Amino acid sequence: MAKQSLKLAKYSVGTGDRFAHQAKAQLQACVQALASGIEVVPVWNKSNREHNIIGSEPASVRQAADAAVKALGWKLPYFVDADHITLKTVDRFLDSSDFYTIDVADFIGQASEESAIDGFVKQHQGLLGSIHLKGVDAPLEITQADLRQAAKKYLAAAKKAGEVYRKIESVKGKGNFITEVSMDETETAQSPAELLIILAAIADEGIPIQTIAPKFSGRFNKGVDYVGNLKQFEREFALDIAVINHAVEHFGLPDNLKLSVHSGSDKFSIYPVIHAAITRLNAGVHLKTAGTSWLEELIGLAEAGGDGLVLAKDIYAAAFAHREELCVPYATVIDIDPAKLPSPSEVKGWSSSQYTSALRHVEGAAAYNSSLRQLLHVGFKVAASEGSRYLGLLESNEAVIAKNVTENLFHRHIAPVFLGHN
Ligand SMILES: [Zn+2]
Repeated sequence: MAKQSLKLAKYSVGTGDRFAHQAKAQLQACVQALASGIEVVPVWNKSNREHNIIGSEPASVRQAADAAVKALGWKLPYFVDADHITLKTVDRFLDSSDFYTIDVADFIGQASEESAIDGFVKQHQGLLGSIHLKGVDAPLEITQADLRQAAKKYLAAAKKAGEVYRKIESVKGKGNFITEVSMDETETAQSPAELLIILAAIADEGIPIQTIAPKFSGRFNKGVDYVGNLKQFEREFALDIAVINHAVEHFGLPDNLKLSVHSGSDKFSIYPVIHAAITRLNAGVHLKTAGTSWLEELIGLAEAGGDGLVLAKDIYAAAFAHREELCVPYATVIDIDPAKLPSPSEVKGWSSSQYTSALRHVEGAAAYNSSLRQLLHVGFKVAASEGSRYLGLLESNEAVIAKNVTENLFHRHIAPVFLGHN
């Protein structure tokens, strides 16, 4: 009998675990969701960039996930996501991952052969005119020029995604992994019409894509809230869902295809919008977070006081000293106001609660400092360089850290997106 292909559930949450110590606390948040009546499948994601900065190997993510699942007796599926991989970086993830986020953002705008563009345009004449999408009022309008323009812009990226997909498939076998395609790490957002054309190109490549991560309008800075026009996001998000439904119906893509929101964590103002849209349109969503748990480790250490608080302050001091180099890889996804960063000597005098209330992301709280939070978000390299001092204190303060990790993931992310609780 043929083996059932891996299929991602309607609701899933991607969590990052930089130092491979929080998988159990993160899974606990999914256990709480289940107790609240909703199945949210955990996906542990880690990019090649993160592995390189920390000096970790993909196998460590698999081990931590497997151990957490065993410890908590989790019976639903779970996955390990090779996040933002490319043809160049996929190899080291082939053993340990069963979810691949194929990042083709760098290929957007790269030239395709005229004949390939002509062929695509000719084959997809059915996309022209007014497309009436279920669940949205205004039809989507695509002209001949739009179709050609989008083919020029995205065909090379779709072909590259096909190439990476086939490489993974040749090693792991069809149906043995989940495929996501990401285009979020780029400057300009993809419109719903472009998304439809991109999905047509992905279908042509024969990629059984289950999640797609477009770049949405607005800014998705690391660890802080969304910056942009909420009304526009709301319209765009609903249209994207309708486009996906249309693509499933017309291009033969997997029927569980859904949006993946690379949130950069903590996009609290759009979570209710996402919840409303997926509820109204009966759609799934993959909410990818990253780095929010690492900041909870710092919060837990600071809350623990003693050596934990000292280390949390040392990490801030080192991150402050190296702020320019730490920010370089993340320049397009952070907005730090240097004038808002407290001096390390000021932080040195802080109590546990001063540190945690500056760092903890509670919108509207007077002490919350989004510049400090973003700096620490990208400052995990500093913790990595502390080595056993950092890991040792994570272990000796496991209980207080775990409480913060679970509470953050459940109350601030899972509950608003999947349960509609704010
Ligand atoms: Zn991303």
